[in-house]
Amino acid sequence: MSHNPYISVVIPVHNEQEVLEELYSRLTRALDKLGKTYEIILTNDGSTDKSSQMLQEFHQRRPEQIRVIEFNGNFGQHMAIMAAFERVRGQIVITMDADLQNPPEEIGKLVDAMERGHDVVNTYRQDRQDSWWRLQVSKWHNKLRAWMMPKLKMQDEGCMLRAYSRQIVDLMASTGESATFIPALALTYASNPTEVGVAHAERQAGTSSYNLYALIRYNFDLVTGFSVFPLQVFTMIGLLISLCSFAFVVFLVLRRLIHGPEVEGVFTLFAIMFFLCGIILFGLGIVGEYVGRIYQEVRKRPRFVVRHVLEQPAVEPVEGKIINAEVA
Ligand code: UDP
Ligand code: MG
Repeated sequence: MSHNPYISVVIPVHNEQEVLEELYSRLTRALDKLGKTYEIILTNDGSTDKSSQMLQEFHQRRPEQIRVIEFNGNFGQHMAIMAAFERVRGQIVITMDADLQNPPEEIGKLVDAMERGHDVVNTYRQDRQDSWWRLQVSKWHNKLRAWMMPKLKMQDEGCMLRAYSRQIVDLMASTGESATFIPALALTYASNPTEVGVAHAERQAGTSSYNLYALIRYNFDLVTGFSVFPLQVFTMIGLLISLCSFAFVVFLVLRRLIHGPEVEGVFTLFAIMFFLCGIILFGLGIVGEYVGRIYQEVRKRPRFVVRHVLEQPAVEPVEGKIINAEVA
């Protein structure tokens, strides 16, 4: 290859041995068909199955196009993407999942949209094929997010098949945050984003790496990473409750003056106490989320550790790179 590629496809891989072979053949076929130069960067995020050997083999099959980043452990999907972002050589960067839920045949649509001058192309899943509870969680979460973070304009945040301009990718890679949500981060830098609909398929094989707990954690990352809304809601609720409690105290004092002392109503007081305790605990939890995040950032631990990278050296100097941080 005499030039840096035009398209970089970035894929995080965590225990995906069942789907990798099909991913390889469908993705390379779809990209070959586009007739543009490309590279595929696969980050092995601490897989414990045969994924690592398979990726190594893919690199041997097409050493010029396939690059493999091997993590030293499991650092999460978004860090796996970040590690690839720090190394991309293409002008248009596409992210996608390894499990083929986002068909690689749709990449052409994203590239077309980028070529029309957009710097971020988001997608929404048409005919989403997921379990009922995942659909419900997503639906409510998307609604809540739209309400809490109106600036993040996307219909469907869960779909990872997206395209970014190189400039946006370099900006994202330079942030250095360790708990982040890439599509939201991209939108904060985008000047001309758009959305296109893409097909969605059921997971072909293997299992989702996310259970309910991981999904909840992931959503906390999104909400607390991009807004202080929960803190503000908390202040407002606290204020409202204080006002109500004050009115209630005035009411009790007046009642006592008119009717004299009353013993009944102890349970009402208990109920109010429990309610207030609940609110306080919840508030502490939210403050804790932010404090935890600050703690993570101030420790300045590497966001991820790369064991080795399988790739051929860049042909041209990588232009306009903002970052140079190498944590290896
Ligand atoms: N993934 C990863 N590290 C993880 C979890 C997931 O790199 O700790 C990858 C996984 O291999 C896949 C993508 O992230 O390519 C999305 O994961 P998955 O399909 O399990 O999530 P879902 O589609 O259920 O949200
Ligand atoms: Mg998936």
